[in-house]
Amino acid sequence: MTRVLLLGGTGDALAIARALPTTHVYSLAGLGRVPGDLACTVRVGGFGGIDGLVRYLRDEHITLVVDATHPYAAQMSRHAFDACALADVPLWAVRRPAWQPQAGDDWREASDWREIVECIAPFHRPLFTLGREALAHLHDIPASQHWTIRCLDAHPGNARASIVDARGPFDLAGERALFDAARIDVVVSKNSGGRATEAKLAVARERGIAVVMLTRPALPDADRIFDDAASARDALQHWLTRP
Ligand code: NAP
Repeated sequence: MTRVLLLGGTGDALAIARALPTTHVYSLAGLGRVPGDLACTVRVGGFGGIDGLVRYLRDEHITLVVDATHPYAAQMSRHAFDACALADVPLWAVRRPAWQPQAGDDWREASDWREIVECIAPFHRPLFTLGREALAHLHDIPASQHWTIRCLDAHPGNARASIVDARGPFDLAGERALFDAARIDVVVSKNSGGRATEAKLAVARERGIAVVMLTRPALPDADRIFDDAASARDALQHWLTRP
């Protein structure tokens, strides 16, 4: 019997999960929404590191792991790589290509929070789109700045920070309106790749606004690597229906 473990938490993973029949498993860390309308089994929560994942693969008779986690969820991807090697289970991965700077872009690279703070020091109205990380620094905001933080967490913010609790995809019109309303003069972003959240980069480009891009983590290899959900889903359909 074939049994797939799909590691998710992204729109790509959800698109693949929608095509998975009932015996297969879609796994989420438990930080976001848990879909209630999938045919496949949904499990929520960590496995307990590499050893826990090896145990899970063996106990649940998993015959293929598909890593469709976010490109910055590097720990889960590394654990999947190590556990699959130990349990002798093949590993496929969806690795969204990074966005590339285009003519007119002013991108600056930062490899950690300290470098982000240095990069935004000359600006006054940053838009953070890193997830919840900026929330941990609400009390460190310099008097010269007002931060707009877009993340999935509802949070009151404070006098120097407004929290926009919103989930992508985001379109050009919506991003232009946000940049206007919040008077954004610099964007802080992960280089997530894909279409769902790239409109902010187009708005930054058309307005000559700098983008501070957090360096992508190195990700492990896999037996097969797909650029997008559609090609992974097609290969998976083929694999599941092979004689
Ligand atoms: P991470 O640092 O790579 O993983 C931390 C731990 O969370 C893992 O060691 C694992 O716990 C557990 N975990 C992560 N993904 C899991 C999954 N799909 N199923 C079961 N357990 C999982 O990940 P993260 O950056 O905190 O991201 C957490 C989740 O949010 C990921 O699934 C990712 O796809 C999604 N996400 C992340 C980002 C981002 O920017 N990082 C953005 C959008 C969505 P154990 O060691 O106990 O197994």
